[in-house]
Amino acid sequence: MPTTTASSQTVLVINCGSSSVKFALIQPARETSLLTGQVDRIGESGSSLSWSISGEKHQRALSGVDLAGALQEVMTVIPAGLSVDAIGHRVVHGAELFTGSVRITDSVVSGLEECTPLAPLHNPANLAGIRAATMIFPDKPQVGVFDTAFHQTLPRKAYLYAVPYEWYTEDHFRRYGFHGTSHRFVAEEAAKRLGRPLEELGLITVHLGNGCSACAVEGGNSVDTTMGMSPLEGLVMGTRSGDVDPALHAFIAGRKNWSLERVTEALNKQSGLLGLSGQSNDMRTLVDAADRGDERADMAIEVFCYRLAKSIMALTAALKHIDALVFTGGIGENSVSVRARVLSQLSLLAPKIDPERNASNGAPGTGLITCDDSFPCLVVPTNEELMIARETLATIQHENP
Ligand code: ADP
Repeated sequence: MPTTTASSQTVLVINCGSSSVKFALIQPARETSLLTGQVDRIGESGSSLSWSISGEKHQRALSGVDLAGALQEVMTVIPAGLSVDAIGHRVVHGAELFTGSVRITDSVVSGLEECTPLAPLHNPANLAGIRAATMIFPDKPQVGVFDTAFHQTLPRKAYLYAVPYEWYTEDHFRRYGFHGTSHRFVAEEAAKRLGRPLEELGLITVHLGNGCSACAVEGGNSVDTTMGMSPLEGLVMGTRSGDVDPALHAFIAGRKNWSLERVTEALNKQSGLLGLSGQSNDMRTLVDAADRGDERADMAIEVFCYRLAKSIMALTAALKHIDALVFTGGIGENSVSVRARVLSQLSLLAPKIDPERNASNGAPGTGLITCDDSFPCLVVPTNEELMIARETLATIQHENP
């Protein structure tokens, strides 16, 4: 590593999508984010770089950049005097090959290519990000941090589907789970806030963003989760259906004369809150509409909250005991009414909501939204970038102690 002190080691966290890249410059030891931003519409006209530094927002139009060009532009907005010590990549699918974060090498890239059929929508973009970063920062260590890795502790009974066993042994068709970096971060943070060792705790963490998943965390390990082979399984999401009857594909394809791919696309992009409400995938928009008396917006929120409450209770079967429920993600951190609606349906856990704490998105310090004498429910803001930056340095230090 360069001559920076441990406390000022700086990690550039990169999260590549199909036509965008989000980035953050983080000093994990100081828990400081120095710069965040994103490049949109990569490879298209109208591409732009937006970034935020010291609370100030900036934007710059770019013309016709590819991914490597986008990263080169990112380098130009890094403040003078700061050096990047390492790069941390968010990688969506690590299959069973990657059970933890890894230093990127040629053989790791080959392994990632092997995982691509399992995540055709996500892994190619992550791989492109790794290749572009290798070109721009040939001498910097790079680490892959996987959404699936935290869930590699799932026991067999939780990860197997009841389908011909060869589909697992030959085709790797099993439940993997996603959002692992976020579930792990908020579980660790919740333990600190509860003032108890994580090893002793049974938690359910609920990540509600555009994608949504819940996770049972026993002693710091994921023991079950709602997403499966792909991020389409489980909870109702912004545009994804979550669980449906497996007979759906044949039924809708036959009725509408659609290809299977078109049905899958509709389940990913036209379903969930958007499909039910017919107006938006955005929870804030729907809550506002429902408050104005819009019945379909209210119906979409009702299904979202009920399915979540049902999944939370189902996940308790994976735990020896349950000590707290943790909300995170844009909806989990901000939607007072969604949290209240979900808690009102968890009568077996008997949470006593504290309306004031809930209205302020959690009591200062603890994040509690329930009364002190209740089963504890907390809001813990997620910070996947910080987790990726920590993992990046820890992985490098583990190799070069
Ligand atoms: P992503 O998964 O893309 O990172 P976020 O975690 O930012 O998404 O979550 C986005 C979701 O959070 C959207 O549905 C948005 O409406 C919702 N959200 C953000 N703030 C609020 C709020 N105050 N009330 C309700 N929903 C909110």
